[in-house]
Amino acid sequence: MTTLAEINQKAITFDVVIVGGGPSGSSCAYWLAEAGWSVCLIEKKDFPREKTCGDGLTPRSVHQLAEMGLESAVAKNGHKYNGLRAFGFGASLEMNWPTHPVFPNYGYTITRFNLDGLVAQHAQQHGAVLLNGVEALSLLEPSESATGGLRGAKGVVVKDKDSGATAEIRGRYLVVGDGQNSRIGRELGTTRNKEWPMGMALRGYYTSDRHDEPWIDSHLDIRDPNGNVVPGYGWIFPLGDGRVNVGVGLLSTGGAWKGVNTTKLQEYFVAQTADAWGLNDESCCGPATGGRLPMGLAIGPHFGSNTLTIGDAAGTVNPFNGEGIAYGYETGRLAAGVIGEALSSNNASALRLYDERLDAAYADYYKVARAFVRIISEPKILSACVGLGLRVEPLMTQLLDIMANLMRNDQKGPSELGYRALVRLADAIPEKAYDLLLGDLKSED
Ligand SMILES: Cc1cc2nc3c(=O)[nH]c(=O)nc-3n(C[C@H](O)[C@H](O)[C@H](O)COP(=O)(O)OP(=O)(O)OC[C@H]3O[C@@H](n4cnc5c(N)ncnc54)[C@H](O)[C@@H]3O)c2cc1C
Repeated sequence: MTTLAEINQKAITFDVVIVGGGPSGSSCAYWLAEAGWSVCLIEKKDFPREKTCGDGLTPRSVHQLAEMGLESAVAKNGHKYNGLRAFGFGASLEMNWPTHPVFPNYGYTITRFNLDGLVAQHAQQHGAVLLNGVEALSLLEPSESATGGLRGAKGVVVKDKDSGATAEIRGRYLVVGDGQNSRIGRELGTTRNKEWPMGMALRGYYTSDRHDEPWIDSHLDIRDPNGNVVPGYGWIFPLGDGRVNVGVGLLSTGGAWKGVNTTKLQEYFVAQTADAWGLNDESCCGPATGGRLPMGLAIGPHFGSNTLTIGDAAGTVNPFNGEGIAYGYETGRLAAGVIGEALSSNNASALRLYDERLDAAYADYYKVARAFVRIISEPKILSACVGLGLRVEPLMTQLLDIMANLMRNDQKGPSELGYRALVRLADAIPEKAYDLLLGDLKSED
């Protein structure tokens, strides 16, 4: 196993250095290593490590894990479920994941403690050098971008957590997947479009007799102790290991957070679901923890002369449903593809293909999602839509296909036709116009 000391001593230059061993960094490392390139994956924590998350894998995530040859390992450590059960405004609906030619019709829940190390170690088994407990401190010999893209760099300066020693790790290409805070991404020059949606979420674990139910639950109305609806959503994801993951989320749209803070929201949500799930002080496994979800490709630029950002560092969370793991795996893989092309052709300009591929994969979809989130964040619209939607099963089932990005390319069913109509609408309306259009419906508060 190659160590930090050896890398320094031999002055190794890797083909690719990757910062962050979460879903995006580990998938990027796996695909590059599997293609035969020399890769160094740097992770500041030691696996297995906790990561605040809902722990829900949709069929999109399962597909990526299967592509990496990891589905059976996930099945062994996780809990298989059939679909989503949605609750809101007095109604509820159980919806199976759709049948799809590419994605499976099931998902898994699995803690990030159990999941993330699996993928990072899988990349290692395929030849990547994995450095655990090593933090990237700063860019190595950064260079300014001539084109308005990310800065370039010769690698990163790192610190070994145990010894406190610093070292340089050199690479021909640098990929940054350091998550929502993304200190190294910001040093590369990324900024977030604050007009676009951003999520904030909190989760805690509880033991529950219902830990192995076949549905993940999503609650679209959370109520305060007086029964008033407060902005935000809640989830309960059974983990199959005696526990459930209970969490809440809030969205910021147009640069402003709507609603109470997430700690209060979690308090209300736990009270609301306590009887049904046996949530109380005894079943609580510890304090809840939170984090941010940068959405809709709101963070850019995405590439420089020899640098790329992936996953949360590029703001890739799906605004429709707060899902970020699948998009971490997918963007890690897209990045690996363009770097492979750059390395094979010895032509770094191939990196510009990354933006084109991100656009092809997500631009239309995230435009619709951003518009949807902005409209649905008006409480009056939310209650009218959810109240109606949960009572009209076909409508809601089609919306689930769209929200989980599970439409089919091979047929034009109602979900696909509905989605194409939404794309045309989102194209026709400038994003800034939503606040004007929604003016009369805005709540007093
Ligand atoms: C409360 C909450 C619930 C969520 N629930 C879900 C869900 O149920 N399903 C879902 O799909 N998504 C969910 N998400 C989103 C999901 O967690 C993220 O989108 C996903 O983890 C992004 O993967 P990533 O690899 O880009 O970043 P991360 O998973 O954050 O990984 C980044 C890694 O980089 C490491 N790192 C950071 N800085 C450095 C450094 N300087 N040097 C070395 N290493 C570094 C970190 O330790 C970390 O391991 C949730 C998010 C939150 C906050």
